[in-house]
Amino acid sequence: MDHIPEQFHSFETDEPFTNCCDCGCELIESAQMYMVQKNFKGKECIMEYALCNACKEKLDEQISGESKEKLFDFLFDHTEMVEAPEGYTAEESLKQIEECLTCGKKRGKCKGYSYSGLFVGSILIPGPMPMMICDDCQEKIADDLSEHTKDVKDKFYEENFPGPPNEMDLPQKGKPMFI
Ligand SMILES: [Zn+2]
Ligand SMILES: [Zn+2]
Repeated sequence: MDHIPEQFHSFETDEPFTNCCDCGCELIESAQMYMVQKNFKGKECIMEYALCNACKEKLDEQISGESKEKLFDFLFDHTEMVEAPEGYTAEESLKQIEECLTCGKKRGKCKGYSYSGLFVGSILIPGPMPMMICDDCQEKIADDLSEHTKDVKDKFYEENFPGPPNEMDLPQKGKPMFI
């Protein structure tokens, strides 16, 4: 697949993301890996961003080891993380965002959900991502995250998504995960 599937286009521009939301670096022409994440409530996209690998790693470093372990444990307990089979295509891997990674609920039946995918240029990288996680499962994971990790995430959102004050008061569960 040499184009970005529309599920990963920016809702705002209707085009693929072109720059990292944090450092602003160019994504499509660069050889750097990046992640696109979108967060939905019902049919409405409430948050979306593309984050370059360097910025994602910086964030990951700030997330406490304990939280990382819990996150890993949760995913491990609730999913069968299988290697993508030989010849697995990006088209096929797109099916992965049709149901929740951890509980298997269909996307259309979820009240809220977020999904993410990894790209290099305009190529979707097959593997454990792309993945979709429903609100209920996100809530369970969020309950396990340490206060420090929550602070790191909150700071990230405040810096990159300045919105009206009422949006800043969204409960934790309304925010997408970093995986
Ligand atoms: Zn960046
Ligand atoms: Zn779920």
